[in-house]
Amino acid sequence: MGSKKVLVTGAGGFIGHHLVKYLKDKGYWVRGVDVKEPEYEKTSADEFELLDLRRWGNCLQATRDIDEVYNLAANMGGIGFIESHKAEIMHDNVLINIHMLEAARLNKISDYLYTSSACIYPGYKQNSPDIEPLKEADAYPADAEDGYGWEKLFSERQCTHYNDEFDMKTHSVRFHNIFGHLGTYDGGREKSPAAMCRKIALANDVDEIEVWGDGLQTRSYCYIDDCVEGIFKLMNSDHTEPVNLGQDRMISINELVDIVAKIAGKEITKRYDTTKPQGVRGRNSDNSELRKALDWEPIVSLEDGLAKTYKWIYGELVKEGRIKEPA
Ligand code: NAD
Repeated sequence: MGSKKVLVTGAGGFIGHHLVKYLKDKGYWVRGVDVKEPEYEKTSADEFELLDLRRWGNCLQATRDIDEVYNLAANMGGIGFIESHKAEIMHDNVLINIHMLEAARLNKISDYLYTSSACIYPGYKQNSPDIEPLKEADAYPADAEDGYGWEKLFSERQCTHYNDEFDMKTHSVRFHNIFGHLGTYDGGREKSPAAMCRKIALANDVDEIEVWGDGLQTRSYCYIDDCVEGIFKLMNSDHTEPVNLGQDRMISINELVDIVAKIAGKEITKRYDTTKPQGVRGRNSDNSELRKALDWEPIVSLEDGLAKTYKWIYGELVKEGRIKEPA
């Protein structure tokens, strides 16, 4: 298994970078492709190519002499970004995935993994903070998150058609809020755990931070180490139907802030900005299918994952000179 050649697209991004390291540790030969190099650490890929995968020729180049493809490349970001860039996101991501699938087929790839999202689930199943965890079958009748979510749903269906009609196994994974160290924490594309860690790291010992919405909206959060292990297991399974990958512990944004504040040892109060986008009201992952398919589920606790993430973001802010460490 370790002698296979694999391609990771989006290898300059958060999950892709971690996945490259994980696959290298397992002994694979890895090609990473992205439009940018990883921001915080050098890649451990054997070969790293800067290619824009919206272009057909680049997808053919990326998939040459490869056995398996992990297609993670996407134009994406936190809720503020995806709510205000729908046209650009759908344009870019449809092109990337449509071209990558066909290039993979022509280059005789055996297995193709596509990273979908919990954003494909219908709004009508997520309109209260204490919703039922989302099962894979809940995706239909469809009412995905406009823009980003519809593209993910369309592309995972296209993966299923390739799986059914051609000689290539496809696996689609629906992530539920993946977070961790080496992920973006500022600039508008960051997700809520990273944003909370940054805001609290920059706050005084007793302070107030801004929270988007009323803080009662709920989510589940999955640590990056679990995420890459789950992706790897799925790639090496016979499971070809879309499957959730996330934690099934649902907490509110208020609770998320309280956990980070406790880790930081600070007394933090919240100032709510209800004019900011906050996404669906409640969302959680039902992991029954994941357990059945992989005989596994995420194990890192939210507290442990957030402690590691907070420590890393704090360190980056010190490096940037935005936090002065006591002498
Ligand atoms: P990320 O933004 O850190 O990584 C995506 C990478 O894709 C970036 O490095 C970006 O430069 C690259 N990319 C964008 N356009 C490209 C292009 N035209 N050609 C080549 N590369 C391009 O995001 P991530 O969190 O690592 O997410 C990885 C995948 O997982 C994405 O498909 C994302 O939609 C999906 N996902 C992530 C989460 C999450 O919580 N992080 C949740 C649901 C789904």
